[in-house]
Amino acid sequence: MPSINPDRLLGDLYKLRTFGTYKTGVHRPTFSPEDVASRQWLTERMTEAGLDAQIDGIGNVIGFTRASGRKMLAGSHIESQNYAGWLDGPLGVIYALEAARALREDKATGDAGVDVVAFCDEEGHFGSFFGSRSFIGDIAEADIDKAKDRTSGKPMRDALKDAGYAGRPRLKIDPRRYVGYFEAHIEQGRTLESGNLKVGVVTGLVGLWNYRITAIGQQNHAGTTMMWERRDAGMTMVRLLAAIDRRFGEIKAARTVWTFGSARFEPGEPSIIPGRAEAVLQFRDADMAVLERMEKALFELVEETNRAGPCELTIANLRRSVPAAMNEGFQQAIEAAVAHHAPGLGIRMPSGAGHDAQVMAQVIPAAMLFVPSIGGISHHWSEDTSDADIVLGARVFCDAVASVLKD
Ligand SMILES: [Zn+2]
Repeated sequence: MPSINPDRLLGDLYKLRTFGTYKTGVHRPTFSPEDVASRQWLTERMTEAGLDAQIDGIGNVIGFTRASGRKMLAGSHIESQNYAGWLDGPLGVIYALEAARALREDKATGDAGVDVVAFCDEEGHFGSFFGSRSFIGDIAEADIDKAKDRTSGKPMRDALKDAGYAGRPRLKIDPRRYVGYFEAHIEQGRTLESGNLKVGVVTGLVGLWNYRITAIGQQNHAGTTMMWERRDAGMTMVRLLAAIDRRFGEIKAARTVWTFGSARFEPGEPSIIPGRAEAVLQFRDADMAVLERMEKALFELVEETNRAGPCELTIANLRRSVPAAMNEGFQQAIEAAVAHHAPGLGIRMPSGAGHDAQVMAQVIPAAMLFVPSIGGISHHWSEDTSDADIVLGARVFCDAVASVLKD
């Protein structure tokens, strides 16, 4: 099996941490000067690794192997959330780069190779998975025309121009080129740490469904309007949300999660009965049947509340991502590598977070592996993983990729 170089791997990760350092993490939002500089640095590292590297018209960084045999696409993303962690994204990109180098250096690997990719804006500063979706042909020019930075409001077109990427072609995948796609990521949860485990073999990625619920009542005086005559949109919403929470608790699967991320009453004054209320609800599960069951229950509850009065409710679906299953053969390859490097320390688990792998799974077989997150913390500058766990994960990753390519 090809062997990774731990110092080179850690050195690259430490180097990436210097672009936009914030405390022990990074602030490197998509197309910030630090992000653009890190993409440039990555192309140089790819070139040194013998890959033909380029940054395309949406900011995807791709290094193509010159190997003539079976090829794997591997990677993740390198931009960060605002003021967030150093490993969310870079870990998977540098694992892929190290695997590409290790395979190239190992004569026994023969003519197999790894293409390395850093998909742009996985963190959604401008949209939802724009980089990987562009790569599979799921982003139109009009989508880019409309996209704006969620923090600054800067149009994506301007950001691409300032980064120097405007006018470049957007690269599209040739699915026939690849055996599949491999992505490593920090777990961003506590399943591995709390079980003293080292590697998560991802079985599938959750679908994530978002809704906006709106209640319309009658805005009125909070002192003179008797309780029986009120049409209080706020109270109706609070009761509905409590009922949804109760019902979801009855019909959930083992790892279903739901969140009321936002609720707002209008006009939002102490002496005014709210005439309008709005709440945003999200639920996630890896099983389509569970998601459909949750949605059915949700619509029923909204309908019941509507019938009961005294407010009018509407519900709109904002997002409905399809859960993605990871390739079974790839999962077995990761498990075999775990058995070799860390016997008994792996576990099969779904991913509660979204990743580019679910986009890639729409066009080629895909796999993901997780390494432990200290304290389960992510999307925060204190996010971390021990060097030993990073190195172990890379060994498993590289072995799994090599063994799949050898088949
Ligand atoms: Zn990530």
